[in-house]
Amino acid sequence: MPSRPDTTTAHARPPFTDRAACTDTIRIDPEDFFPNSGTPARALAYCRTRCTVRDECLTWALATDQRHGVWGGTTANQRAALRRG
Ligand code: SF4
Repeated sequence: MPSRPDTTTAHARPPFTDRAACTDTIRIDPEDFFPNSGTPARALAYCRTRCTVRDECLTWALATDQRHGVWGGTTANQRAALRRG
């Protein structure tokens, strides 16, 4: 059974960040993950094709109610739909 992420600290560093593909700032632009408008297609593709901690990231984003940006290969709207069930 996967353990529930520790979200007790308001700005706790997600436990998977040492394995996160999006920390490779040579290959990606972090702003792709938090666009001001439009669909973040590059970030979504990057998560889905290169990241090995995508499930952990999505679990974290849902547990900490991340309302902006791309997390776990999902958009904010997709996560809102998941929260609604
Ligand atoms: S799924 Fe995407 S946002 Fe999450 S850690 Fe991986 S690359 Fe970063």
